[in-house]
Amino acid sequence: MSINNFRIGEGWDVHALVEGRPLIIGGVSIPFEKGLMGHSDADVLIHALIDAFLGAAGLGDIGRHFPDTDAQFKGVDSSVLLEHAHKLIKDRGWNLVNIDSTITAQAPKMAPHIPLMIERLSSVLNIDKERINIKAKTAEKMGPVGLGQSIEARAVVLLFKA
Ligand code: MG
Repeated sequence: MSINNFRIGEGWDVHALVEGRPLIIGGVSIPFEKGLMGHSDADVLIHALIDAFLGAAGLGDIGRHFPDTDAQFKGVDSSVLLEHAHKLIKDRGWNLVNIDSTITAQAPKMAPHIPLMIERLSSVLNIDKERINIKAKTAEKMGPVGLGQSIEARAVVLLFKA
């Protein structure tokens, strides 16, 4: 065992909350009067996770691998991008140890949807549910998130190579 066996990565993302879009977070469609604006399905949690994966493996960021100027990613299910990012790290010999993450949204309430998000992520990544943690917070009505103008997510992942 040496320092070359482990890598940590972090990711953060934000999307504007607007009318006329579905709200999809952690691969789960959440009933709400607004949704997140973006080139893809704007899944803010999955985008943070992808950046955490890529960061841990030293592979840059989501914009480098999935540019929002590329028509093939328009409206794309972010789970597909996550699967691809996971394959990139696995191809380099890395295994996912665990994920910890936080969604910051003033509304709607995230907590009721977290078990299904964990289920979805565990199936996309093919890892045990107990290795995935998702936390939810409000922004105490402060700033763009607190005013309901956007939703943020952040994630950290630990990778292990035998
Ligand atoms: Mg994004």
